[in-house]
Amino acid sequence: MRPLIEDVLDVLREILTVYSASGSGCSVSDVRLEAVRKVATRELAGHRFKNRDSAERSIHDACTRRLKLSAPAFDARVNRWLSGDPVELHSLLRSVGGYAKNRSAVESLRSERVREHSVVSREVTQAPPYPAEFIASDVIDAAYPERRETILQRLLRDTATARELKLRHHNHCQICGLAVPLWDGLTYAEAHHIRPLGHPHNGPDSPNNMLILCPNHHAQCDLGAIRLDLASLRQLPDHIIDIEHIRYHNTTIAK
Ligand SMILES: [Zn+2]
Repeated sequence: MRPLIEDVLDVLREILTVYSASGSGCSVSDVRLEAVRKVATRELAGHRFKNRDSAERSIHDACTRRLKLSAPAFDARVNRWLSGDPVELHSLLRSVGGYAKNRSAVESLRSERVREHSVVSREVTQAPPYPAEFIASDVIDAAYPERRETILQRLLRDTATARELKLRHHNHCQICGLAVPLWDGLTYAEAHHIRPLGHPHNGPDSPNNMLILCPNHHAQCDLGAIRLDLASLRQLPDHIIDIEHIRYHNTTIAK
């Protein structure tokens, strides 16, 4: 018999995947339904269930009835975890059978979460091509820069390389040297890909393209708010940064 916690962890992993693919526009309950369907499909392929109905019901029950939670209560806890609550996932799963054995899986899932950047950008509209005296005053106002708020949401998902680099740097930011303190002597850092992964940048997931950063410097790098200077980065002899990636950041990402 498969331990309950493994079903729940599978659903939580799928929630992260579905959430990152569908962005910020969808509700946690929709994401949960999709995640349950995906886990059920996989378990059906493994012949654990007779049919799709019983598979989906059983996986749904694992996250709700068997955790003594209603579906909305489960969604609310998932939401708190995705919003960055550092202990939510452990407190949700601590009393579930198999927790002790799966503690490291819970911890690795905990460190993956969705973070929101709220960015206020200025949209500069061009000055009208005719003399100002011909334009009504409210139209002139419209020609001034307008502030627009954009919410960027992205998934922080560590690769094995990222986890290994964080260990090597003891979570110290390579720009400012800070290791964000948590509880019990634990610290926190984030891994940044200097040349971003995926289209259109297609940066590699390799140590020479990665920086370990505090959340503030990570956000500034991601959003192109700062330029990088290789000479002033805190580097380790066994973690060498490729200057080509630094150049790419300074020419393409930095504003
Ligand atoms: Zn920093």
